[in-house]
Amino acid sequence: MKLEIDLGQLWSNVNKMGQNRAKVILEPAPPHIVDPPPDPPIGDLGESGPYVPVAGAGGIDLDPETLKRIITGSGSGLLSLNGQQIMMYMPGHYSERFEKALLDGNDGNRMHIAFCTHLEKMKQTGKYDAKYRATQAIDGNFTIHDNKSGTKGVTDLKVCKYCLNTLNYDGYAVPGRRKGTIFKDFSFEAFFERYASFFSAHPQRGATRTLQEKGYTEDWAEVSRQYRTSRKYCCEECTVDLNDYPYLLHSHHVNANKQDNRDENLRALCIDCHSKQPYHDHMVVSIEDRHLIAQLRQRQDMPAPADWRHVFDLADPGMNGVMHFLQHNQVPIPAVGLDIQDDNEAVVATLELAWPVAKLAIAITDEDAVAARQQGWNTLSVEQVLAHPDYFVKNLG
Ligand SMILES: [Zn+2]
Ligand SMILES: [Zn+2]
Ligand SMILES: [Zn+2]
Repeated sequence: MKLEIDLGQLWSNVNKMGQNRAKVILEPAPPHIVDPPPDPPIGDLGESGPYVPVAGAGGIDLDPETLKRIITGSGSGLLSLNGQQIMMYMPGHYSERFEKALLDGNDGNRMHIAFCTHLEKMKQTGKYDAKYRATQAIDGNFTIHDNKSGTKGVTDLKVCKYCLNTLNYDGYAVPGRRKGTIFKDFSFEAFFERYASFFSAHPQRGATRTLQEKGYTEDWAEVSRQYRTSRKYCCEECTVDLNDYPYLLHSHHVNANKQDNRDENLRALCIDCHSKQPYHDHMVVSIEDRHLIAQLRQRQDMPAPADWRHVFDLADPGMNGVMHFLQHNQVPIPAVGLDIQDDNEAVVATLELAWPVAKLAIAITDEDAVAARQQGWNTLSVEQVLAHPDYFVKNLG
């Protein structure tokens, strides 16, 4: 007899249970104790072809060989396995700590999102092959267990502060920034959205829903089309003209009420500007679309950014760590999304942040970095800039 189990459905039930974790812990027979399905075999980790999540809600235990294959994604400093972005943590806790962690994720082990100094130290002291687990649970619900009894549960572990420091996330490492607020406001979903440009595949975020299920009015498609027409298909934030690419222009609800379609509550925004609005952490914009918008801004001779606020508005959100650092060090304002052409005027690379006079730039993809170097540019990755900050300040200051 062959038994077939729908793991997707099972996981969605597990997730629902996890959401009520803190409220149910004091009741008898606590429903937060769950038995996740067996781990997927390591060999199935997202090779080429359709996206195979490394981890669903539970993740995979890392054997020493797989652990060695974790690298930093595209020079971002983020953790990457088989081209996919992952996070890693130790699910095992000692009994007392396990109970505490179930009540409050803040009392549990930390979730690593980068190659931080803590992981480096573990490596140096030979503890790196401890029982780590890779996960992509962007909803922030992570499976942990009691080292002694093996009892499992789900809790909202918090991000590692060394990691925030390594990435300079939201300017975490810059003097004067509010570290406590940055830590408290950290969302795993927003984190994955922010660095989407560094990876070609992204964790799925649930099934596609209809307009109504998403909270829009029945006539939304027509309302949005009319509104964008009235704005001549230009972004009301950065002013880029998207008549040739109407799908890159969205209608945004200013007060977040998707039923309120009054003109004064709508704004036509290019998807780059739209994804940077508050509470739009679910919006994943591909690097191709972001670069296309950057290219159009240049071709349409839009003014180059005059201050850092403008740079933050225009640049890829994955640049946030370096931007906070460079702003703090008062380096000259860079060009954003600069196209590099070869002798035949063909665009060969897009440089996310570039200083044309010094011919120095920070690129997102390896392809862009290599192509720009062939045109005489000096390109660095986000990780290199954050690891050797003095280099930039010296060359540009
Ligand atoms: Zn860490
Ligand atoms: Zn825009
Ligand atoms: Zn919106």
